Amino acid sequence: MSLTKTKRDTALATAASITPGAPGMADLLARNGVEPVFRSLEAELRGEIAEEIPSRWIDVAAYDTADQQWLVQGLDLLVRNAAAAGPGFDGARACSLLVDRVRERRFDPAISGERFTYEILTLSSWLESALPAGLAVPAAPARGRLDELYRAAAAGPFDPEALTAALLPALTDRLGEQLTWWTSGPAEPEDPAWLESTARALQAFVRDGTGLITGACADGPLNEGFAFERDVVGASARPDDDTSRLGFLRRQVHLMGRDPAYGSALDAAGYDHTRADAADALDDLLRAWLAGDDALHELVGGLLARTPAHRGGPGGWIYVPDLPPGEGWGPRAAWRPYVYRLMLHELLHRLAHPRYVAAAAEVADPQILDEGVVDLLTCEFLELSRADPELGELVPDDVTAGYGTSGRAAAAIQDLAGPDNLKAAFFLGRTDLIGLP
Ligand SMILES: [Zn+2]
Repeated sequence: MSLTKTKRDTALATAASITPGAPGMADLLARNGVEPVFRSLEAELRGEIAEEIPSRWIDVAAYDTADQQWLVQGLDLLVRNAAAAGPGFDGARACSLLVDRVRERRFDPAISGERFTYEILTLSSWLESALPAGLAVPAAPARGRLDELYRAAAAGPFDPEALTAALLPALTDRLGEQLTWWTSGPAEPEDPAWLESTARALQAFVRDGTGLITGACADGPLNEGFAFERDVVGASARPDDDTSRLGFLRRQVHLMGRDPAYGSALDAAGYDHTRADAADALDDLLRAWLAGDDALHELVGGLLARTPAHRGGPGGWIYVPDLPPGEGWGPRAAWRPYVYRLMLHELLHRLAHPRYVAAAAEVADPQILDEGVVDLLTCEFLELSRADPELGELVPDDVTAGYGTSGRAAAAIQDLAGPDNLKAAFFLGRTDLIGLP
């Protein structure tokens, strides 16, 4: 069996082929019982450290027969393919992961063939090691160009007053215009059942239709019982508190403040995100804006309920707009495609590897790796979903990545490091593959 599940995975394929499990395993289990077969496969996968840690048989003994069959056949598959997984593969961890993930199993080894194989390779972390094993860290001159993209331009001390003068009036105008679009819309909210079914279809599509690497993180949400439809909630229910307001304003300021149309105001004011206290100084300024400007305070409050947002970290609500805007925003037919795109974008935020998220926060313009790359991947996956029977009709004719200069920098990183390297960084936390620590 070839590792290539889809054409998109071709470049990632490292091992030439996957050795299938033993055909007579069911007979062997019937003859010898599960315990000795499990213990022997477990010991083989653990290698030298097998004696040092207690066997997981104590857990497995309590599983029902179908779970045990799945597990033992999965371990057999891993033993036969361990050497092909690359240097990062940890057999002991893989064995333990399968024991823990047996409740997530979807495919029966007796009838599901290839799908069972990919399920085992994914849940055990085999794919997580094997997929990036053939990728190389960026070399010069690409490495130097990447460093430039992550580094801040030389800047003087941060001048909050300059930022206020350059940005606050334009920001207030822009938010005012946006709020007018929204408040002129119908009062009838989007059908929550549509949000829920779209979220469910979207998660299934992203897991099964976008290439192996998307779901290859063994500890990632797609393998840990995450249900997007459970976490998606209409933004009209978003709490209005100081933290949400500050977060909203911070995003707007990073977005507009890096836009040459507004004089690249953050750079011009000497804001350097890589300096230790820069983010705090900016937050202090934004708090002062909110406290001292009633109009801004009101606009932010109104827009919170219309704006997508997600909680940082692995869990929690993902807000998507559920109150349609008025005609000034655009035709009503564009509304559901708009929400669909936002949902995909927010789902991708949830799938970003924690190491990637941490690395993104350390570069000069965190919006590049955070929003720019998320939107780049959103566009790629949107195009792929055109062929999906349920989601295809929600893809707009014209799909282009946003986030201005940050978005363009994200595209440059993809070109310099390569699209597979970028995905390995994003989904698997292999940030070294895009030239980051
Ligand atoms: Zn985003």
